[in-house]
Amino acid sequence: MFDVAIIGCGPVGAFAANLLGKSGASVLVIEQEARAYPLPRAVHLDHEMMRLFQSAGVIDRVAGDMRDTEGHLHVGADHGVIRYMGTVGRARPFSWSNDYFFYQPELEDHLRDALNEHPNITVQLGVAFEGLEQNADGVTLRLSGSRSEQARFVIACDGARSAVRKAMDIRLDDLDFEEPWLVVDAEVDGPVRFPDLWGVPEAADLQKLSVMMCDPKRPATIVPGRGNHRRWEFMLLPGEDDQAMMEPAAVAALVEPYLSGVPHKVVRAATYRFHGLIAERWRQGGVFLAGDAAHQTPPFFGQGMCHGLRDVANLAWKLDLVLRGQAPDALLDTYQPERDPHVRAVISAAVSAGRYICMLDPAAAAERDVKMREAAKSAQQGTAADLIPAIATGIVAVGTAGAGERFIQPRVGDRLLDDVTGCGWRLFTRTAIENGDVTVIDLTQLDDGGAIAAWLAARNAESVLIRPDHYVFGTGKASDLIVRRNALVAGAAHQEIAA
Ligand SMILES: Cc1cc2nc3c(=O)[nH]c(=O)nc-3n(C[C@H](O)[C@H](O)[C@H](O)COP(=O)(O)OP(=O)(O)OC[C@H]3O[C@@H](n4cnc5c(N)ncnc54)[C@H](O)[C@@H]3O)c2cc1C
Repeated sequence: MFDVAIIGCGPVGAFAANLLGKSGASVLVIEQEARAYPLPRAVHLDHEMMRLFQSAGVIDRVAGDMRDTEGHLHVGADHGVIRYMGTVGRARPFSWSNDYFFYQPELEDHLRDALNEHPNITVQLGVAFEGLEQNADGVTLRLSGSRSEQARFVIACDGARSAVRKAMDIRLDDLDFEEPWLVVDAEVDGPVRFPDLWGVPEAADLQKLSVMMCDPKRPATIVPGRGNHRRWEFMLLPGEDDQAMMEPAAVAALVEPYLSGVPHKVVRAATYRFHGLIAERWRQGGVFLAGDAAHQTPPFFGQGMCHGLRDVANLAWKLDLVLRGQAPDALLDTYQPERDPHVRAVISAAVSAGRYICMLDPAAAAERDVKMREAAKSAQQGTAADLIPAIATGIVAVGTAGAGERFIQPRVGDRLLDDVTGCGWRLFTRTAIENGDVTVIDLTQLDDGGAIAAWLAARNAESVLIRPDHYVFGTGKASDLIVRRNALVAGAAHQEIAA
């Protein structure tokens, strides 16, 4: 019997296997395809993912293929800027750039290669999940070729059409967004052209931004990509046929304004339906849904895969504690309550953005442009990462300053904080305190340029306790934090969630 079986070795499944493999669990990965999907879907990820790649021990494999980027720019019907979510000059709280472009097949290859480092991980490629039964000991998986395997827990990372989700009859909550878009990938030898745009902030470099043309004639996104890879996403207009729009002549006409005179090769064109969907239940017995199996977002903020990586980062440390017998099974009930509000907030923001991006009525689009420019004058313009709310329930010391936020990762000398402290439970304090599985870091001895002391001072707190997924458990007196954390992990979490 395996500790954990992971169904699907896309980015989320492969990342989950690396994290759990590193923790020492025996892991089975089941993937129906012999090879990773060769074409990119995701092209953007944010700084939290780089930190998670550190945690999984894969950062050295993936970092070299990342290209840092400078955020998002939304342009109105009159080709003037209506929203700028730029990152130039912004703080880098995790010591990584705020956003990166990448090539999904390369990332997936790296994550799969890294699995070979763990003798406790078994990968079965070309094997499909077909069904499951659960009993008190765990889960029996029925697999193609009349095989079966057993695991104590199962993580379904089998994507949007998840057979595991269907086998458990879990419905999707529909956020009422469905729009057809054509995705075009090209290798481009030179800078992409843009129509004359106005109102572009001085700091904004169009070649480094994901540009959303909210033009009712043809809403479109232009994404720089890594190396010479460039991505376009074009909304299909009413009456347009998917097949006809994927024809080379139709694709050439769409990219022509951006690539006229620029040598390029289109490598694929495919249509997708952009959805906002969230599973009603993320856990059933010993089976958990993660990644696209649990939720799907319109890709307007480039967060779909990022959500999935956060899911399994949340689940992995909880599974580890339960598998070691250091926490009851009930700890795993905190997975959905912690993750769902987070995913829902960002998907809802993407759906709202989708509603104004996909506006096809010229008069309504002109009105939108006026309103958005007015709003931009009075409101501080955030970045996509600012959309992410703090965890407000579950294993957090609710009510203490900073609880549920993502903790900073300053440099410590020439290294990164997590590489120095490890990625378990960490208590940053000036108080001498002993506690088993919590690493206590004496702030007076930490060469971080005073970054954590300043973080604490801003919250008027003396100590901070950090979870293995880098979210703040809480702030306050060191001994109180340990007591509260132990109580919650040991089973009081239900009361906290219910409260
Ligand atoms: C056009 C587009 C642009 C996007 N842009 C971004 C972006 O910029 N940033 C971002 O973060 N996200 C983006 N996304 C979303 C991102 O691509 C997905 O969220 C991500 O790929 C989901 O990963 P996953 O591992 O959950 O699922 P998948 O990548 O779908 O992987 C599922 C795996 O499960 C396997 N599988 C399925 N069924 C079975 C079975 N029965 N048995 C065994 N194996 C099975 C599949 O073969 C596959 O390997 C975008 C998506 C689209 C469509």
